[in-house]
Amino acid sequence: MRAEDAFPVRGVARPALPRRSLRLWSVRHARGLAAFYRGFERGLRAAAPLLRRIGYARLERPVAGVERVVKQALFDCRMCGQCVLSATGLSCPMNCPKGLRNGPCGGVRDNGTCEVHPQMPCVWVKAFEGAERMGAVARLGEAQAPIDHRKTGRSSWLQAAQADAAP
Ligand code: SF4
Repeated sequence: MRAEDAFPVRGVARPALPRRSLRLWSVRHARGLAAFYRGFERGLRAAAPLLRRIGYARLERPVAGVERVVKQALFDCRMCGQCVLSATGLSCPMNCPKGLRNGPCGGVRDNGTCEVHPQMPCVWVKAFEGAERMGAVARLGEAQAPIDHRKTGRSSWLQAAQADAAP
């Protein structure tokens, strides 16, 4: 049996291969993108009083729409609503076919590709590379909470602004 045939186990369908878009490029440019995002976050924080006046509920749909387009293109974002990119070297963990937000699993192949999709670089190997570029390898050790599906589709940007505005 070839190594790539070892998964799926009998009777279990192989999950769909995630899209790639620019996400490998984004990991290669993690340092610059992270610096840009820090500036963007400062802008969000500064705009928090205005955002509050307009109303977060009213802003949710349009902002989430813009966030979806931008982050899908750059990271293959799935709009989980609890973004952890800054802790994962800008490699979105929702692209892991096993859905691991605390990875990697024990199945990474010797060449750094995924156990499920041999042609795909492991999301967590990429996370390490991106984190190294960002100087944030220590953040990979942070335990991520289980996903809260009630937040799926919601804007992480607005949540960041709201959290920062909270007393
Ligand atoms: S962690 Fe969630 S919000 Fe962040 S890029 Fe991935 S799916 Fe999108």
